[in-house]
Amino acid sequence: MPDVIVIGAGPAGAVTAALLRRLGYAVEIWERQAFPRHRIGESLPPRAVDLLKHLRFEANGFAVMEGHTSIWGEAEPHRAVFQEGYGLQVQRDRFDQKLVDQSDASVYFGRTALGLVQEDGKVAGVRDKDGEVRARFVVMASGPGKSTRHLRQSAIFGYWKNSRHPEGSQANDTVIESFPDGWVWSLRLADDTRNVTVLFDTAGISYEDAIRQTTFVRRMLDGAELVSRAVGCDASWQCAETFAEPGLLRVGDAGSVIDPLSSQGVYKALCSAMSAAVVINTCLKRPGLERTALDFFNEEERRTYDGYSAGSIATFRQEQRWPDRPFWKTRHELPAFDIRTRAFSQELANAIESGQAMDLCVRNAAGTRVAQKPAISGSLIELEEYLVSPAFEYGYRGAPGDAIRRIHRTLRVPKRVGEILDELAPLQTSMMLRIIAYMYREGLIEPL
Ligand SMILES: Cc1cc2nc3c(=O)[nH]c(=O)nc-3n(C[C@H](O)[C@H](O)[C@H](O)COP(=O)(O)OP(=O)(O)OC[C@H]3O[C@@H](n4cnc5c(N)ncnc54)[C@H](O)[C@@H]3O)c2cc1C
Repeated sequence: MPDVIVIGAGPAGAVTAALLRRLGYAVEIWERQAFPRHRIGESLPPRAVDLLKHLRFEANGFAVMEGHTSIWGEAEPHRAVFQEGYGLQVQRDRFDQKLVDQSDASVYFGRTALGLVQEDGKVAGVRDKDGEVRARFVVMASGPGKSTRHLRQSAIFGYWKNSRHPEGSQANDTVIESFPDGWVWSLRLADDTRNVTVLFDTAGISYEDAIRQTTFVRRMLDGAELVSRAVGCDASWQCAETFAEPGLLRVGDAGSVIDPLSSQGVYKALCSAMSAAVVINTCLKRPGLERTALDFFNEEERRTYDGYSAGSIATFRQEQRWPDRPFWKTRHELPAFDIRTRAFSQELANAIESGQAMDLCVRNAAGTRVAQKPAISGSLIELEEYLVSPAFEYGYRGAPGDAIRRIHRTLRVPKRVGEILDELAPLQTSMMLRIIAYMYREGLIEPL
């Protein structure tokens, strides 16, 4: 019997399987399709490339992306060059194959999971057409499913030859261009084909009509030839009710699907895979911490989805040229996630940080407290101390978190900034001033 069955061999499944194999578990991947197979989602931002390197996955042989170009909110193109690292434009058939080849799991292509085996209130295996296979844990990494859709939209994508790519370092940029009824996305792959994807939510819009409404993308396609079918797919936001239950995790798109606008779907899948491996390891090695580990996964994945949704809503609001067109009206009316701006004086924060407010007396803001919360510690989930506040229940931990908690403890009674430094000596003064200023900006401390 395998320890873990992973359903789906996309980035989420392959990476979860690989990390579990490295922890010594027997892992099977069931993939319903034959690989290599096409998948839309080809633009990897620098943070995804960095994470793959960090996790020791090889992903060479793809087009290097040095920035992105957007025509959004105004007619003029705006180019942002990555300050650190580089992104990749990957053909997903080759990319996903590479990841699964590096998983070291037993991979079964053409094997479709048809249902889950339940026993004593937990998932205990997977069913396929030949019967059931038991496992100690199951990972659902099967891509977008039937979860609740929070924003319905569709995409049509096609591949073009002989397009006019931008020149120089801009050549491999991801290009995003809004138009009255949606937005268009385009990128160049290593074989010189160009993907052009249209995002829309109105029935009846044609691929060619949408492209005709653009300027930058239309110009790139002047004289180019569409060499594939234009294929439609669902691109709605989705989020599962729960990401974790006893014996089962939903990882990557199987847990939640974010707007392609962010081009972070693969990165999110990699992060989710990393947490999943640690959570499963904890459930199998420390059964007493199972509930804590599952709660951790649920909270992290929910928070991630909310964070990306908030980011997309903020980006939609930057496009105000067609406020009465249904596509933009729908997006502008999306409930703003709780993006609270904290009231603080930037002048005072600067004074604290530069050491010019040593006599300022500060105290803990009402409601801040130290709480035990689950966190990743090596390959396990452990309970760790976080400083939480009414405005940020998720809390602060980690290396600066240690200093934050110490400052919180010392501020049980109000103190001057200079006194805090004396108490925490020999910690580096400039770093401590930065942390005190940060705590002030985050609303964790307040001046008396
Ligand atoms: C239009 C569009 C553009 C996008 N652009 C980008 C982008 O530029 N950059 C980016 O990072 N992301 C992008 N994404 C998102 C990205 O493609 C996904 O987030 C990513 O593929 C998720 O990986 P995954 O492993 O979770 O799922 P998938 O890659 O979907 O893999 C799931 C696998 O599970 C298999 N499977 C499904 N059901 C079963 C079953 N019952 N049994 C066995 N196997 C099964 C499927 O065959 C599939 O191979 C885009 C998405 C869309 C819709």
